[in-house]
Amino acid sequence: MGETLRTDTVVVGLGAMGSQALWHLARRGVPTVGVEQFVPGHDRGSSHGESRIIRTAYVEGAEYVPFVRAAWERWADLEQASGQELLLRTGALMAGAPDSGAVSGALTAASHHALEHEHLSPEQAQARFPHHRFAPGEEAVVEQEGGVLLPEAAIGAAVRLAGEAGARVLTEAPVTRIVPDPEQPTVWMGGTEIRARRVVVAAGSWTTRLLPQLPDLGIRVERRVLGWFPITGAPEPHTGGQVFARDEADGTLWFGFPSLDGRTVKIGVHSEAPGARFPGAQWGEPVDPDTGPRAPDTADGARLGLLAARLDGVATTPERMSACMYTMTPDEDFLIGHRAELPGLVLAGGFSGHGFKFASAVGAALADLAEHGRTDLPIDMFDPQRQ
Ligand SMILES: Cc1cc2nc3c(=O)[nH]c(=O)nc-3n(C[C@H](O)[C@H](O)[C@H](O)COP(=O)(O)OP(=O)(O)OC[C@H]3O[C@@H](n4cnc5c(N)ncnc54)[C@H](O)[C@@H]3O)c2cc1C
Repeated sequence: MGETLRTDTVVVGLGAMGSQALWHLARRGVPTVGVEQFVPGHDRGSSHGESRIIRTAYVEGAEYVPFVRAAWERWADLEQASGQELLLRTGALMAGAPDSGAVSGALTAASHHALEHEHLSPEQAQARFPHHRFAPGEEAVVEQEGGVLLPEAAIGAAVRLAGEAGARVLTEAPVTRIVPDPEQPTVWMGGTEIRARRVVVAAGSWTTRLLPQLPDLGIRVERRVLGWFPITGAPEPHTGGQVFARDEADGTLWFGFPSLDGRTVKIGVHSEAPGARFPGAQWGEPVDPDTGPRAPDTADGARLGLLAARLDGVATTPERMSACMYTMTPDEDFLIGHRAELPGLVLAGGFSGHGFKFASAVGAALADLAEHGRTDLPIDMFDPQRQ
């Protein structure tokens, strides 16, 4: 016979979103159990690889700005409560042609929300950022409200604080089934069941597998690869620089970080226009989350190397690479809230490769939804019922 546990709220999945939800629930005194199939901070989901960008003049849509502001506040709370530095404030640079998403999107968000920023001409941009090789005509938008989040440390801090606040944390405990119910949803781990009042499902790339009750929402799990490129020139511009997002003329949106180790610069591709694909490196390649993304290979290194060549004083062969999963929705907006097919459950998924920076606010919103069924945080645009 298996065991039966009882609690108020279960959080399934302790990655970026679930770890934050667990902490917010626990610090409010809500009896909570967090369940993770691996060990929090692992490298088999979407939240590993040392660093994540946070920026405010949101290229993906001005309507995200209030939520990212809510996230900044809550990252500061987590830093204070944990006594750890989890966010390095570096500023952010967005560059590309004047009509590119990176430049026009950042300017739209900045003007709608009166965000402090600078808009640099091609000449100003090149003079100010000599370690970037801009194509002729490329402009830049610079903001101070940008930085680097440390994902493994942030997840570890949230889970630790949740435990200290009374949450029970079950690790290496795969959830095999979730039974929705408006009064008492149940989470099964093999023969063990947890009966609760609410279940928060933050299962990342495993969301649709774990919730067969969901209709086809068009969610796709895709492979992405990060590369660390050795600095060959003077380290300073790369160690002291900003996070950046650059839009290439061929439709490639890529991103990078100031060097955290003083030796390498990390870059990755966020999205590509179909015609821009480099032979062999299939950035939209579908992934089965249980087997995980294919290991990085030389074609991935060569593709990233073409982008590393757009930086000055950086080698074009990576020292190392890491593969990761994006969980994409059709509109690339998140799914946070309730679905009619899932009574008693709160869903957080489909973070479409740009969710980490919001995790602190997502966690607070999930705690509100689990506790009260509603939140004052600006998440209407993420209603899972829209799909
Ligand atoms: C390469 C890469 C670069 C990125 N860069 C940025 C960036 O710069 N800025 C940014 O904001 N975002 C970025 N993102 C996106 C961001 O990292 C993700 O949106 C975010 O981490 C998703 O968090 P999650 O909690 O939904 O998923 P995850 O962190 O993967 O968490 C899901 C968790 O659920 C667990 N789980 C699943 N099924 C079960 C089960 N059956 N039982 C128990 N546990 C289960 C998993 O093991 C996992 O720990 C990037 C993503 C990638 C891959």
